[in-house]
Amino acid sequence: MKTMIQDNRRKYFSLLVIAFCSLNSVYSQELPLDHPDKKKFTSTVVFQNGEEKMMNGYGEVSFGEEYFSRPLNERVERGFTYVVSSRGINYPEKSNEENAGVRFNLTFKDVILGNGTGFDDPTYGAQRRDALNAAFRYFSEIINNTGEADVQIDPSFFQNITMNSTPPLATSVAPSNASRGFNDCLAFRHLNTGTDPSSSLPDGILSFNFGNNINYNYNFAGAPTNSQYDFYTVAIHEIMHMLGFTSYCNADGSSQAANNVFTAFDEFLLNPSYNPLLVSSGSGSSMTVAVPQVSYLTSNDLWFDNLNGVSTPVYAPATFSASSLDHFDNLRSSDKFVMNYSLSKGEYYRYLHPDEANALVRLGYDINVSMATSVEDMPESNADARIYPNPATSGDGVKINLRGVNKPEILVVVYDMLGRVSYSKVVVSNGSGPLTAIDPHNNLAPGMYVVIGSSKDELFNQKLVIE
Ligand SMILES: [Zn+2]
Repeated sequence: MKTMIQDNRRKYFSLLVIAFCSLNSVYSQELPLDHPDKKKFTSTVVFQNGEEKMMNGYGEVSFGEEYFSRPLNERVERGFTYVVSSRGINYPEKSNEENAGVRFNLTFKDVILGNGTGFDDPTYGAQRRDALNAAFRYFSEIINNTGEADVQIDPSFFQNITMNSTPPLATSVAPSNASRGFNDCLAFRHLNTGTDPSSSLPDGILSFNFGNNINYNYNFAGAPTNSQYDFYTVAIHEIMHMLGFTSYCNADGSSQAANNVFTAFDEFLLNPSYNPLLVSSGSGSSMTVAVPQVSYLTSNDLWFDNLNGVSTPVYAPATFSASSLDHFDNLRSSDKFVMNYSLSKGEYYRYLHPDEANALVRLGYDINVSMATSVEDMPESNADARIYPNPATSGDGVKINLRGVNKPEILVVVYDMLGRVSYSKVVVSNGSGPLTAIDPHNNLAPGMYVVIGSSKDELFNQKLVIE
C-alpha cells in the first residue's frame, strides 16, 4: 500500500515536472534568428537589358529603389537615411582624412513609406533606429577598411510567437555576383575598395520582426531582462550575415543561388576530416564546385577554417535547416557565439567572439580584433616558432605556431628543395601570437620543404617534411 502511494506521488511529481517544463519553454523561448526560407533571401546581381537587378534563389527579380537616385545629403535631411561612422551618426560627410574607418548608409523603408510601424513607429521607432545605428557603429569602429556600404532596411514584419510557431527575429541579405566559385558579397567589396560595385542596388538588406508579443530590449547600454530579446544582439548577428558570414549551400550540397556559385564564407567550411567541404576546380566560366558528400551536411561535425589554425564548430544539425552551415554552434562549444542560429530571452552580446572577429579577417576584412572582442592583448612571451605535425603526412593540415612572434604581419613562404615557392601567405598577427594553417588545402606533395617566416628581418627558417 505504502509503495502504491509512493508510486502515485512519483507519477504526480513527474506530471508536475512536465507541466513546469512546457510552461518554462514558452517563457524562456529560443527563437531562430533568421527566416526559414533561405532561397528567398539569397540574392545575386544579374544584368538584364543592360540593367542591374537582383535575383533571389527562386529566380525572382527585383530592382534598385528610387531613393538611390537622390543625393545622400538630401536623404539624410529628409530623415530616412542615417550615415553611421566611427565618428558618430550623421557626422558630416567623411573627409579625405585617412583611416577614418568605414561608413554605413542606412536607409529605412518604414520611414520612407511613413507606415507608422516598425522603425517608423511613433512610440518605438526612434529607439529601434538608435539601437540599430549603434550596432552598425560598432562595426564602423572595428573595421579598418575605408569604404562604405549602402544598407537598405526593408519594411518591418510582424509575426507573433504562438504555441505552435517560433517566428524568425529578422532576415538578412548579402547580395553577391553570380560568378562560378566563391564570391565576395557586395558589402565586402564596397567597404574594402570604396568603389560601389553596384550603384543602383543596396549592398545589403536587413529586415526585423516586431511582432507585438516579442518583447525587445532596445537599451544597448544595459542588459535585457529574462523576458526580453536583446535587439542589439539581433542586429549584430544580422549585420554579420550581411558582411558575408553566409553560406549558399543547400541540403543536397548544391548552391541555392545558381549552379557552382558559392560565397567567400563557403570556401572556409571544413568537413569532418578538417578538409575543405566545397572544392573548386578549373577557373573562370568553366569553374566547378564539387558536390560534397551529402551526409557531411547533417553530421554535426562541420568546421570553419578560422584564422590562427583554429577550427570553429559550424551549425550542421542532423536535420538540415535554413540555418545550417552559416552559423556557429553553441552546443558544440564551451564558448558562446553571437552567430549561434537562435537567441533566447535574456541572452545578449555586446562584442563578437574572437573566432567571429577572426572569421571577418578570413573573409578579407581588416579588423581590429582586440577592439572587436574587447580582449586585452596577451602578454609577450619568448619568440619561438614551431611547425607541426612535422614530419607530416600528405593530407594532414600543417600548422605553424607563431606564438610569441610580435610582428603585425608575417610573410610565411614554403619553398621546395629546388627553391620554388610552394605556398605563401601573409599572416596577420593580432598581438596575441597566431596559430595558423599553412597549406590549408593540402596541396603540398610529399617531399622536403623550407618554411621561412619573415617580417622586416627574417624571423625563422625551419625544415618541413611531408611524407
Ligand atoms: Zn543567422
